[in-house]
Amino acid sequence: MARRPTLSPTKITTYLACPVKYYWTYINPKGKWYLRSKSYYSFGTSLHAVLQRFHDSRDAGVTTTDEAIAALEESWIEAGYSSQDEMMQALAEGKQIVEAHVERAMREPISAQTIVVEKLYRRELGPFVLLGRVDRVDEHEDGTIEIIDYKSGRDTVTEEEVRNDLAMTCYQLILAEHFPDREILASIIAVKSGDKATAQVKGVELDDFRGEIELLGREILDRDWEGVEPVLKERLCPRCDFKSLCVQHPGFELPVLQ
Ligand code: SF4
Repeated sequence: MARRPTLSPTKITTYLACPVKYYWTYINPKGKWYLRSKSYYSFGTSLHAVLQRFHDSRDAGVTTTDEAIAALEESWIEAGYSSQDEMMQALAEGKQIVEAHVERAMREPISAQTIVVEKLYRRELGPFVLLGRVDRVDEHEDGTIEIIDYKSGRDTVTEEEVRNDLAMTCYQLILAEHFPDREILASIIAVKSGDKATAQVKGVELDDFRGEIELLGREILDRDWEGVEPVLKERLCPRCDFKSLCVQHPGFELPVLQ
C-alpha cells in the first residue's frame, strides 16, 4: 500500500508564505542546490540539542550549568556564520542563554514532570499525515498535558502569539488524539529571556482548525506545480534562497536593495 504523504507545520507555513518556495524546498530536488546554511538555524539547533539533553531524565550527562555549557560546545554547529568573530559572539550568547535557562529551571519549584523531549508525533488527516516534532511535553499533577516549544530568536512572547501560532495549534491537534481524555496546553518559552506564554485551543475552535488544515493540505497535495508563477513579496524575496531561480521568470524583478 502506498504511504500517505506527510505535511508538517513548517511545510504548511512555507506554502502559505510562498507556494514557489514550497515547490523548490519540497517538490523539485534541484532546489537543494540553492539552499544556504543560516546562522539563526544553526544557533537554534545547537541550543535545542542542549535543552533537550538537560530536560531528558534518561540523560544523566547534562544536569548542571557547567555540563550544559560543555554540551553546547560539543553540539555547536558552525555553519552559516559570516565570520569567525560572528560565530564566537553567537557561541558566547548561547552559553549565557543556556546558563540562565538551567539556573531558572533549578530555581523553579517542580510542578510538572517532563515525559517527552524532542519527539515526532503524527496524526492522520484525510489523505495525508500531519507530523509535529515537539520540543518537550510535560505532565502536570492534575493530568494536564503541556506542550513546550523553545524559541531561540526572540526575547518575549504573548498568549495571543501562542494562540495564533500555526505550529502550536497543529501540535495541540495532534496530541489531542494521543491524549484524548486530557486537557492540553501549549506554551512557548523565549529562551533568551525565559519569558513564557501559554494558550489552549480546544473544542469547536480546534475542530474548525482541523477542517482548515485538512482543506489546506488537500490544496497543497492537489496543486498543479508546473503552473505556479513567482509573485514578488517585498519582505521575503530579497532574502530568499531561490531568488536567482525566480528572476529567470519574465516579469519577476527584485526590488533594488537600498
Ligand atoms: S524569491 Fe520570492 S517568489 Fe521566489 S521562491 Fe522566494 S519568496 Fe517565493
